[in-house]
Amino acid sequence: MCREIEGRRQCGQIRKIIDFEKSRMLKNRTIAVSCHGYLVEDVSVLNAYCEMDQTKNACESGCINYGKKWSCPPYSRRFTDISGHYRKAVLLVFRTKMEYYSDVKNKYTALKAANVTLKSLIEKCARMIEKQENGYALLSGSCRLCKKCSCRSKQKCRKPDAMRYSMEATMLNVEKICSGLAGIKLQWYQNGTLPEYTSTVSMVLLNDEVKPEELADKVYHMI
Ligand code: SF4
Repeated sequence: MCREIEGRRQCGQIRKIIDFEKSRMLKNRTIAVSCHGYLVEDVSVLNAYCEMDQTKNACESGCINYGKKWSCPPYSRRFTDISGHYRKAVLLVFRTKMEYYSDVKNKYTALKAANVTLKSLIEKCARMIEKQENGYALLSGSCRLCKKCSCRSKQKCRKPDAMRYSMEATMLNVEKICSGLAGIKLQWYQNGTLPEYTSTVSMVLLNDEVKPEELADKVYHMI
């Protein structure tokens, strides 16, 4: 059972290490971004969230990138094949309220705009942590490093060293990880109705000990 202790979530092997909200000025608006980060002390607890059949079926039936990007199923590596090389993980969850996009008439366009901003911010932070801690990042969404993925023409990946999978592409159930470990309920766009807030989630697998305050400080300065 998880519980809040002095604002830090304690749940056996998960510990809240990043927790702040910061304003971010964009070209056409200013939004507040809530940043949450959790240290998973034993990466093997995440293996239970690797759901091969359900996640693969969801990708295959519901995603236009299935089989069209090297970062996506059926080409992506599964989480349990990657996690064995690491001991810990940092889970990042960034959120913003959709009220900041209330001027955008098309609701789906508003959601997309908010998600693009969050994905770009979380990717920057995850790659920074990966570099600093000699880890391996699992990002949010499919790889966007090339205009057109070479997978479509069945050529090799152009940037294999920089390409990273999303958490979902490795067959992790992100929604369950967020609710089960971090106590965060993700909200979705449903029947034309916008959620109160939108979230993006990433993870960095690590071996070294992390310095939580230092990490939180660096993430803060990247937002
Ligand atoms: S780096 Fe380029 S070629 Fe490789 S997966 Fe990403 S988009 Fe595709």
